[in-house]
Amino acid sequence: MTGHQKMFTAATFEGPEGPAPVLLLCEHASREIPEQYKGLGLSPEVARSHVAWDPGALELTRLLSRALSVPLVAGNVSRLLYDCNRPPEAPDAVPAVSEIYEIPGNFDLSAQERAEREELIYRPFCKAVDEAIERVNPVAIVTVHSFTPVYFGRHRRVEIGVLHDSDSRLADAMLARLERTEEAVERNQPYGPDDGVTHSLLKHAQSRGLLNVMLEVRNDLLADPEGIERVGMLLGGALALSLADTGALAQGGRG
Ligand SMILES: [Zn+2]
Repeated sequence: MTGHQKMFTAATFEGPEGPAPVLLLCEHASREIPEQYKGLGLSPEVARSHVAWDPGALELTRLLSRALSVPLVAGNVSRLLYDCNRPPEAPDAVPAVSEIYEIPGNFDLSAQERAEREELIYRPFCKAVDEAIERVNPVAIVTVHSFTPVYFGRHRRVEIGVLHDSDSRLADAMLARLERTEEAVERNQPYGPDDGVTHSLLKHAQSRGLLNVMLEVRNDLLADPEGIERVGMLLGGALALSLADTGALAQGGRG
């Protein structure tokens, strides 16, 4: 990429500016691929698919933001350019293959091209999160994702995944609160820490001792506004009660 190319903003902060108990993160909010990347050589079908982004995740995050009066930070470009839930050393931060799809624009990238993706996308995203944490002073970080119902040709039974790394305080509370819902809720499914998906939790929350959880919703539950509303109310209610259950709110600050 050379000098005259159009620049873009890798992350956006939305919601109330003041202190809040929770900061929401939505790393895979967008399937936008800025012009200079020439669509990464993807077919329109793949560029619209779940490999490019998490369909419904931004709408769900915004609903949680409004329901709980807490802010969010969302990524503004496709995770195929750089996956902000992966550290730079992870091979799948810039995937050449995602599930069953090849990503031609990521084949044979030079070290410089890869470093440029990191500089333009990952670093600014992390900076936006750091600045938001500074201003919001949350007790918890909650990351919001969606996943495809069919993966490598197999149907997934789980509908809502509650994911965590070694600090499971908030995830445990959420799982207890969601025990009686009709949705199929599971711990560390359809992914878990061994799949490298807890990077944001570790980097932004656990490193600071903040409560944290990653919410993964099967994207067919988020296919229309009614579905998003239903899941949003369920998870928003469970999250508010779970935060109270952990005792973090009573302490009035970072635990
Ligand atoms: Zn995701």
